[in-house]
Amino acid sequence: MRLDEIPDDLMTKCDGCGALLVTKSWLRDFKVCSRCGHHTRLPAHERIELLCDDGSFEEWEAHLAPRDPLGFPGYEGKRTAAQLKTHLKDSCVVGRARIEGRPVALGASDFAFMGGSMGSVFGEKITRLLERALHERIPAITVTSTGGARMQEGLMSLMQMAKTSAAVARLQAARVPFISVLSDPSTAGVQASFASLGDLIIAEPGALIGFTGARVIEQTMKIKLPKDFQSAEFQMAHGQLDMIVPRAKLRETLAQTLGLLLD
Ligand SMILES: [Zn+2]
Repeated sequence: MRLDEIPDDLMTKCDGCGALLVTKSWLRDFKVCSRCGHHTRLPAHERIELLCDDGSFEEWEAHLAPRDPLGFPGYEGKRTAAQLKTHLKDSCVVGRARIEGRPVALGASDFAFMGGSMGSVFGEKITRLLERALHERIPAITVTSTGGARMQEGLMSLMQMAKTSAAVARLQAARVPFISVLSDPSTAGVQASFASLGDLIIAEPGALIGFTGARVIEQTMKIKLPKDFQSAEFQMAHGQLDMIVPRAKLRETLAQTLGLLLD
């Protein structure tokens, strides 16, 4: 539905503070709450649309679809339901795009597809994205929103951590820039592989970023963690990020950064 087709009196409740927001304004603000600044998770295609020059995105590897190598109980049904819900074949979309005229290789994950989890297709698509960036010598940008590796593919998922990390290493050896943007959440197997290896690591405000979840750490270590543990702001204060950038400024910041890196 186009923005001008949305009724003026339609309201949306903020997941952060519970405030009722005028839907049209909330959409104009890129799904960020004007009261508390809560950044709602974006589907992969909305993220791409937000960052790229209009009509510049050309999708790569859209045909790749996951299989069920372990015959994991219930996986096929969950995957089919996710495909119907998101209209994606898997949890990650990659392709070539332009940001203020500059060509980039861009990938985004979609949390609505099985928690944005990285299975063999996600890992393969990110690896091919990085390899094409290397081949064409254009910067690579990934935007993650993921709970980590996809448990239904077991070791096949964990292998993607090494594979994507190796692809980043080859890109960096060739001095082709790689920017990692962490949106909510960016955790576990994805955060512990390519997403934490950017030459520049940018996060959205309030994003959950970390490896193991706070509850598991507290239970295992028998310690109490700070309230803001694993927030983007906590990670920034502890040297794990280069920048926290609100969504409304993200495209502009990426364009400026690409200018600094390339010109
Ligand atoms: Zn709010």
